[in-house]
Amino acid sequence: MHEPAVPRLQSQDPEIAGLVEAEARRQYEKIRLIASENYVSPAVLEATGTVLTNKYSEGYAGKRYYEGQQNVDPIELLAIDRAKELFGVEHANVQPYSGSPANLAVYMAFLEPGDPVMGLSLPMGGHLTHGWSVSATGRWFRPVRYDVRADTGRVDMDQVRDLALKERPKLIWCGGTAIPRTIDFPAFAEIARETGAVLAADIAHIAGLIAGGAHPSPVGHADVITTTTHKTLRGPRGAMIMSTAEHAKAIDKAVFPGLQGGPHNHTTAAIAVALREAAQRDFAGYARQVVANARALAAALLERGYDLISGGTDNHLILIDLTNKGVAGKPAAQALDRAGIELNYNAVPFDPRKPFDPSGLRIGTAAITTRGLTEERMPQIAAWIDEVVQAAAKQDETVVERVAAEVREMLASYPMPGWTPAP
Ligand SMILES: *Cc1c(COP(=O)(O)O)cnc(C)c1O
Repeated sequence: MHEPAVPRLQSQDPEIAGLVEAEARRQYEKIRLIASENYVSPAVLEATGTVLTNKYSEGYAGKRYYEGQQNVDPIELLAIDRAKELFGVEHANVQPYSGSPANLAVYMAFLEPGDPVMGLSLPMGGHLTHGWSVSATGRWFRPVRYDVRADTGRVDMDQVRDLALKERPKLIWCGGTAIPRTIDFPAFAEIARETGAVLAADIAHIAGLIAGGAHPSPVGHADVITTTTHKTLRGPRGAMIMSTAEHAKAIDKAVFPGLQGGPHNHTTAAIAVALREAAQRDFAGYARQVVANARALAAALLERGYDLISGGTDNHLILIDLTNKGVAGKPAAQALDRAGIELNYNAVPFDPRKPFDPSGLRIGTAAITTRGLTEERMPQIAAWIDEVVQAAAKQDETVVERVAAEVREMLASYPMPGWTPAP
């Protein structure tokens, strides 16, 4: 049963209700290892389903373009205060619709079209919005890309500095979507200072680890910090931009009226709820456990001969190069999904294969940690992954079916926030 329950959805639109129920069961029965996903709390789910979705609130608290903001203003101010308190920042904007629009707002705030922007290249773990060619950010600005080193799998800070001195980007991004190692915010800050660039830290993936004290914070180093709210931070789909007081006005103007119209007030409320949850003591325990689980899973995969980019992990994320296993990322990911282990195929640094059919797999441990799994379970998960990857190389479906049943049985002892199976 969905929690909160959805009885009217079931009676009035059984088609959608049926698909929601099927999706909930799918989330219940699978080991969810997609690094950008999580399970939000029932309180966050409830906030997203409120009448706040009915209200238009263009502008900011006290300066709106529509009447009737008596309750929306305090909700947005609470979300802002909680973000400021949790991350220790001077300014927070909680209105961006998602991570990509938040990043676009940073360009809007600091750059003119054609200005140079520097970011980690996409196949090396960067994000589309850090200036990749198919993104508006790569077409409307002049992208300069840094890489990771082939031998270490880590960002080469000497290369970043040399490139920044040569190309003089106005904006430098640090952070990304497939970085298994700690981001060196002070080193990026020094390069940005030396070259006169604005430093933006995109902490979409690691915001929950930072809030929980399990990854160093960019505060005091980056000029601007963007984050999604729905990955390790475990809130609704949305985003925030945080900064020093100096950049507050430019950022607020870029989000509205620069890029967006009315904020999604139901999302704002759910962000406030999630930020309150992230300030509780047990959230730090969750963040530590996410990293402990990733380390344990990485160790178990290494023991089975898996080639991990950078040789392991410092955070929630593991990037596997499957080349030595004789199978590509996509068929392996598809077989794993059929076996109840959900993750995504991913390019690895210097990948000789194409982006839609790359050599790697990306794994994250946030969702399984929320579900309550701890280190003791990781060798078993690594064993299942190994069995299915080998089966995928041989196209053996019997293994896949057996593992799916074993996965379902194991997960039945871990309750899922937001849904419980009928007794
Ligand atoms: C997920 C992600 C984004 C984009 O977020 P969306 O909400 O999917 O638009 C931006 N930057 C990084 C580093 C991300 O991981």
